Amino acid sequence: MSFHTLGLGPRLLNGVSSMGYSDPTPIQTEAIPHILEGTDVVGVAQTGTGKTAAFVLPMLQRTPTRSGVRALVVTPTRELALQISEVVRDVSRHTGHRSVVVYGGVGIQPQVDKLRRGVDVVIACPGRLLDLHSRRAVDLSKVETLVLDEADRMLDMGFWPDVRRILGLLPEKSQNLLFSATMSREVLKVVESTLNEPVQVEVSPPATPIDRIEQTLYPVCRTQKTDLLVRLLARREHTRTLVFTRTKHRADRLSRQLERKGVASAAIHGDRTQGQRQRALEAFRAGRSEVLVATDVVARGIDVDRISHVINYDMPNTPEDYVHRIGRTARAGASGTAISFLAAEEIATLTEIEKVLGATIVCQDLEGFRYAPRTVPASDRRVQKAVGTSSPKPRTRSGRRGGKGRAGHRN
Ligand code: AMP
Repeated sequence: MSFHTLGLGPRLLNGVSSMGYSDPTPIQTEAIPHILEGTDVVGVAQTGTGKTAAFVLPMLQRTPTRSGVRALVVTPTRELALQISEVVRDVSRHTGHRSVVVYGGVGIQPQVDKLRRGVDVVIACPGRLLDLHSRRAVDLSKVETLVLDEADRMLDMGFWPDVRRILGLLPEKSQNLLFSATMSREVLKVVESTLNEPVQVEVSPPATPIDRIEQTLYPVCRTQKTDLLVRLLARREHTRTLVFTRTKHRADRLSRQLERKGVASAAIHGDRTQGQRQRALEAFRAGRSEVLVATDVVARGIDVDRISHVINYDMPNTPEDYVHRIGRTARAGASGTAISFLAAEEIATLTEIEKVLGATIVCQDLEGFRYAPRTVPASDRRVQKAVGTSSPKPRTRSGRRGGKGRAGHRN
């Protein structure tokens, strides 16, 4: 499925390609045609599925410019509002829509001024929107498309009375879209009361086929991580390798180090421009760079198939990030390998991760690699066993020796 077959016009398609998306995600494939037709849509989808673009793209296509506020997105938190407004702004470079994002906790006057200058799209948290309306700073009587994003969270956070008041300010007939990660009875009630014969589109959260991913730990001291990575890559067991670092700075530095050692790589992170990110992704997809170095934030937007290896050059901060990172491999029925470098200071995170996995991850040494002495707390049994260079054989937590290990389940 390509974006071209979904019914989006040329300007929107330009927006899509400038954002670096090559193929639509499942929620986009399903939702965009219905929204373009003017149908009310309920989207059951979590963050990370591409749901924002699933409503922003068709919404902008249907929204005229220079004729007052015609599209309104209501969302529970300032972070979400900002995220959505960024997507709207990126696409609007091609369509000419003017938008404003409004939320509380900051001065209201700049938002009033922006609204006075004229906007086509408003992205709002409920309370501030009502405040602006009561000051007559915004006219919602011409809204044609309303999006309620993360409806379940809005209910949880007690915003429903505000949302109902906002609904009362809209014209009798508008196209209403509702997105929610879950479909509780409360959300269903909202759907019934606000949407007109909606089509429901649903995607399950990205599957995390953990048991199809071979997970291994490589204890290594901080300063040898790059050398170990280069040696692992030299085994040429990988096709596409996604490497995660903790910071943008480390992503850039590692990518440069790899290049110097003859490994074609690119880095992708939040400080890169859309164009740079797009070029890096294209090079990775096309196989011109065998390694893509990324940070967690942008990794959520990377949609590349056939990643054979995920390497945690640095351990992630949370177990959720770990699961998310390693879920980038083993897509579409394939198996995959996840390798985590473990320095002494990362042991606490590992303990958290293993708690969530309900499994211990097997430790392994790379045969023939000249390990520097690894300084790890003596209290940690697992790493203690892997300290030193006396044996090149793989080791496991329980001291077993043997081939490549999977995460074994704790009993
Ligand atoms: P969302 O679920 O809207 O929060 O989107 C999650 C991430 O996916 C964001 O970083 C988007 O930039 C990215 N994304 C959305 N649609 C696509 C697509 N078709 N291809 C690649 N990445 C996408």
